[in-house]
Amino acid sequence: MPAQIIDANLLIKTMRLLVVEDEPDLLAGLAVALRREGYAVDTAPDGEEGLYKALNTEYDAIILDVMLPHVDGWEILRRIRSSRSTPVLMLTARDRSADRVRGLDAGADDYLTKPFDTPELLARLRSLIRRSRHHPQALLEIGAVSINLAARTVTRASEPVTLTAREYVVLEFLALHRGEVVTRTALYDHLFDENESTLSNILDVHIFNLRKKLGQDFILTRRGHGYIIE
Ligand code: CA
Repeated sequence: MPAQIIDANLLIKTMRLLVVEDEPDLLAGLAVALRREGYAVDTAPDGEEGLYKALNTEYDAIILDVMLPHVDGWEILRRIRSSRSTPVLMLTARDRSADRVRGLDAGADDYLTKPFDTPELLARLRSLIRRSRHHPQALLEIGAVSINLAARTVTRASEPVTLTAREYVVLEFLALHRGEVVTRTALYDHLFDENESTLSNILDVHIFNLRKKLGQDFILTRRGHGYIIE
């Protein structure tokens, strides 16, 4: 039996995204669909706010409309690329190959023409985030622990491990940054969006439970710095 992800209906966050889109219905719909998938979602209804957020917050991916008031998507992409490698999925109403080429040349990681199906957007987003982490395959294997990023299941020595949804997202984030020290601040930044207040101490509980389930040495503490999976 596969491992069960329990309490999946709580506000569980795995990756923090920014959606820049000036059509209110589309923006709201995307935010709902993405949050339902477990992403933390910040939104911007115009180019100016989108640019400000994109440059001042470390997002795991940005969904960026091309035609925007104040500052258009091309300019935002150009400014993001001058300082950040955040994966960007561009949205446009125009199905013109010239735009597609322009977008990819300008450093967009993928490109979707409106109208699009939400499942396709979600699939491309998952692929984009995996590629940006240099893990194109959906399976992460670390010692005896195997994490299936697509199914969000975990095994240890081939035995299913039952994690709560929050434990899973903490594990996934650390695993995707394997070999790097991840600060508590970074974990909070990626697990909570702008509409939530952070919960102190809860992270310690998740780390404690993950160690109990995956082995005491699986996640190491770097005093004063954060956590690391080696
Ligand atoms: Ca638009």
